[in-house]
Amino acid sequence: MAVSTFKRGLRLPTRKTATEGKPVEQIPPPKQVVIPINQHFGAPNQSLVQVGDRVKRGQKIADGSGLMTVPVHASIAGVVKKIESRIQSNNTEGLCIVIEASAPEGGPAEGADTEFLPPLDAFTCTREEALARIREAGIIGMGGAGFPVHVKLSPPPNKPIDVIIADGAECEPYLTTDEAALTEKPHLVVLGLAMVMKITGVNRAIIGMEDNKAPLIPMIEREIRMGDYPGDIRVGLCKTRYPQGGEKMLITALTGREVPSGGLPMDAGCIVQNVGTLAAIAEAFTLGKPLIDRDLTVSGGACKLPKNIRAPVGTLLTELPAEFMDIDYDILRKILFGGPMMGTSVASIGIPIQKNTSGIILMTGEETWMDREGPCIRCGRCIRNCACRLSPVIMNINLETGDLDGAVKAGLLDCIECGSCTYMCPARIKLVQRFRVGKQRFRARQSLRLERQKAAAAVLGKG
Ligand code: SF4
Ligand code: SF4
Repeated sequence: MAVSTFKRGLRLPTRKTATEGKPVEQIPPPKQVVIPINQHFGAPNQSLVQVGDRVKRGQKIADGSGLMTVPVHASIAGVVKKIESRIQSNNTEGLCIVIEASAPEGGPAEGADTEFLPPLDAFTCTREEALARIREAGIIGMGGAGFPVHVKLSPPPNKPIDVIIADGAECEPYLTTDEAALTEKPHLVVLGLAMVMKITGVNRAIIGMEDNKAPLIPMIEREIRMGDYPGDIRVGLCKTRYPQGGEKMLITALTGREVPSGGLPMDAGCIVQNVGTLAAIAEAFTLGKPLIDRDLTVSGGACKLPKNIRAPVGTLLTELPAEFMDIDYDILRKILFGGPMMGTSVASIGIPIQKNTSGIILMTGEETWMDREGPCIRCGRCIRNCACRLSPVIMNINLETGDLDGAVKAGLLDCIECGSCTYMCPARIKLVQRFRVGKQRFRARQSLRLERQKAAAAVLGKG
């Protein structure tokens, strides 16, 4: 099989050996979960429950009305103990529903304490029913970005799609749960992919993986043959190279197409879905199961028992017994939600696992560079290694001087936040962190302008 790739990018130490090939272990039932009510892009949700309410596993507990809004569901059965603001994995405070595990009086019959949706046949229901099911099940992209899937599967009519790409590249160091999904539930990945093809009316799909996962190909191809779904589904291999799992890089490697500057995958005729998300889509139809469990990798030098785990959304690592998850706090220097390249550094382990938490990496001082930033030495390494062909050094200078428009002109909005420039910078300049903040500032400024324009239009209208 041919192995394709994209230009530039990095060869990173993969650091996956501690969890590679390990099965996903179900965590012991947590005593409580802390569920952020907003885990998506878009307008905020409102809580549908109150303190003291008894909830079932799978019951919808928060929802909203915006186009980009998706509901959240109780991931364990129990009683709502608190609804309060907590720090989340993106380091912002957000409203969370705290559920304490408990059984109803008399104890529930087997399965009686769950509330899933009725199963739905994705191949015979209408497109609208299918999209409504995906939204109702609270499914967002599980690869990290958290984009609502029902929106991603509804491109405008002027953006025809002819390829669906299943993203199983998992190029971030340490993370191994996409590999586990391809190993343990290839039937669900392929079924979810076939469902997405049916919903979007696309008859070509590629399951993209890095070539270090080549041994999985026969198993996946067997599932494709056994499923006998309509359309052309095949596996595409890419070089193990960072950031191969980025949507734009994967599209280029597998189709030869380029996503234009400022564009989205749909501008190249593609929709990209993470393999874990596809498995969740399959379960939302076959079992009626909302997105309430998350598979993630817990690893890093300060983690004594690195493993892939399956945890109810809202679980705190601090709740897990030491015989299951042992952490060496003496050498722990950095906690990352997500991988070391694109993840977020957080101050505490007591932060809830969310729908888009692909891993928690507990790093020692040796695994991370804790030294201070130095001045830019104009070496150009950040430019040479940017897979999006941007000039990180120029964007950074613009941001440092407060020239937001200059940074945008230099390509800030095309940055996929892969972190390669930060990794390569000899001066240890936290480039990607600055770009994240810069993009947030730009979006905030845009919405402020929009608000002002609306207010001005309202005043003129009255006049
Ligand atoms: S500028 Fe953005 S896309 Fe380019 S290497 Fe840095 S983080 Fe990655
Ligand atoms: S890699 Fe770092 S030091 Fe080199 S040009 Fe880019 S920002 Fe400057």
